[in-house]
Amino acid sequence: MRAMVYRGPYRVRVEEKDMPKIEHPNDAIVRVTRAAICGSDLHLYHGIMTDLRVGHTFGHEFIGIVEQVGSSVQNLKRGDKVMVPFNIYCGSCFFCARGLWSNCSNVNPNATAVGAIYGYSHTTGGYDGGQAEYVRVPFADVGPMIIPDDIEDEDALMLTDACSTGYFGAQLADIEQGDTVVVFGAGPVGLFAAQSSWLMGAGRVIVVDHIDYRLDKARTFAHAETYNFVEYDDIVVEMKKTTDNVGADRVIDAVGAEADGSLLQHATGAKLKLQGGSPIALNWAIDSARKGGTVSVMGVYGPVPSAIKFGDAVNKGLTLRMNQAPVKRQWPRLFEHIRNGYLKPSDIITHRIPLDEIAEGYHMFSSKLDNCIKTVVIP
Ligand code: NAD
Ligand code: ZN
Repeated sequence: MRAMVYRGPYRVRVEEKDMPKIEHPNDAIVRVTRAAICGSDLHLYHGIMTDLRVGHTFGHEFIGIVEQVGSSVQNLKRGDKVMVPFNIYCGSCFFCARGLWSNCSNVNPNATAVGAIYGYSHTTGGYDGGQAEYVRVPFADVGPMIIPDDIEDEDALMLTDACSTGYFGAQLADIEQGDTVVVFGAGPVGLFAAQSSWLMGAGRVIVVDHIDYRLDKARTFAHAETYNFVEYDDIVVEMKKTTDNVGADRVIDAVGAEADGSLLQHATGAKLKLQGGSPIALNWAIDSARKGGTVSVMGVYGPVPSAIKFGDAVNKGLTLRMNQAPVKRQWPRLFEHIRNGYLKPSDIITHRIPLDEIAEGYHMFSSKLDNCIKTVVIP
């Protein structure tokens, strides 16, 4: 089969690979009909995740048709059209039993923190992902769901991660009626977090980024106020000013580890010498929150040591909440919002490309070319 393959930082291509096989009676093989490229894939692409092996296939956002099921799979059969959450989990371990589906201990016994993720680093299980013609889906009775008839394929695809993660980010922010919410990052996760903040009762939603076309999208898609941080000496001072010097009630980090050190230096007025992987947005989030506020961290931070302003977070009495999103938990509510017309997740898709053009797709998304926000890959 054809599959995206990682060959080193900034080097991905499509190669011929062995077809995945049923390795366990709980497995299914899914023929991928649509996959997407995520900001999390960029951390891999940029080489920030140092535990990544060459030859690996990325892709944790995908939908497809069940091709084959293992002998003990009961809920799925060949021909079913499924959406697959980005997390792999058993559904029954200590953590899964508590709803912590992104922290399953059965799928990845060596990991101390996260459970397992399709097509991610080896710390997250080393499972091949869905930017390919076929993918192996472990615990096929647990994660995948048959796509409801009235949900469109590309909306379902956005629910396998970005949309559900943005929603989860807003949930973790503890938004109360009328709250001011600041979202750092106007990528798919930030855009969905901003939109979800309104659905949870926010009175004001502000999105911060440095890419104008993405800030445009934050205004039109998420109806947010926007700030381009390069236009200000200090974006934190600006956030204070616009909240009567109180700070924002809730702040969401939808950025994560940033690969581009030059951007980071610019962002801090070059006062600090910074390496890629530094938690600039997270520190801005901590600084922008009001005392007693909540910071919700959806951004992903790799194994690179990072200087987080933890003392400030303590002294301000902040609540810090974070996790890999257990996305399937959000699906029932998100289906409702889609059916009621409050959400149209596929509206953030800007590009659709064949699998064979995935190298160009990564380059475009990484370099923010052609107004790219979300790219769908069609094997
Ligand atoms: P993306 O790369 O498309 O978007 C990130 C945005 O942040 C970009 O528009 C970039 O210009 C902007 N940015 C960079 N530095 C910034 C700064 N200092 N302040 C404000 N904005 C800044 O990525 P995405 O797909 O939207 O994902 C966002 C983050 O969420 C990534 O770190 C990704 O790994 C993470 N993520 C987490 C989960 C989870 O379950 N927790 C799931 C999916 C994605
Ligand atoms: Zn993702």
